[in-house]
Amino acid sequence: MRSDLIAMVDHARSAADSWRERLYERRDRAVLLIGWFGALTRPQIVGLSEGQVRQLSAGQWVIGGVVDRSGTRDVELPKGHRPNICPRCAYVRWMDVLANYDKDSRLGLIRVLGRPEAEHTHACTSYAASSMGSPMPVFRLIKTNQAIAPHAMSAHTVHEIIVRRATAIGLDGRRFGARSLRAGNIAEAQSRHGEDPRDR
Ligand SMILES: [Zn+2]
Repeated sequence: MRSDLIAMVDHARSAADSWRERLYERRDRAVLLIGWFGALTRPQIVGLSEGQVRQLSAGQWVIGGVVDRSGTRDVELPKGHRPNICPRCAYVRWMDVLANYDKDSRLGLIRVLGRPEAEHTHACTSYAASSMGSPMPVFRLIKTNQAIAPHAMSAHTVHEIIVRRATAIGLDGRRFGARSLRAGNIAEAQSRHGEDPRDR
């Protein structure tokens, strides 16, 4: 599933050729990569707040206070091998979209999404989270007119994103979508034999 996920992310990026499509692509990339690398369920993904994503010393990133059946846990967010499949970069790029939208609405979106982003640079290495403690949801609802609501999208939208992006690369979207990103990550971790997920 990991190779499928990477193919989905790469395809989405190369297929997005307008600011509107890049808006959805950036959100979807962040949903897919953070959900996968964080082994998060759909409700955990939409429940994420900006304040939960924290940078610790030595380049370590964590998602704090993820609520599970057994309590709360901190989840490490690794740095990806390539910028396009780096969950930290995906987060930074999506935060950039939200910040520009909150500043200048649609003009802000066009400013940040009007041209393709630099392909070969990690945006995460020079990023300092300024959202410490912010309760704002990370994955805010995008309305049909591309206005971005202050509240979170639904867990069903996460499902739709997975199905749509899987179908776009020729996978059976319904079958793929039925498995959560968390389930796929854990299944792979069990068969990985110690291989580092950041190597791909
Ligand atoms: Zn990065």
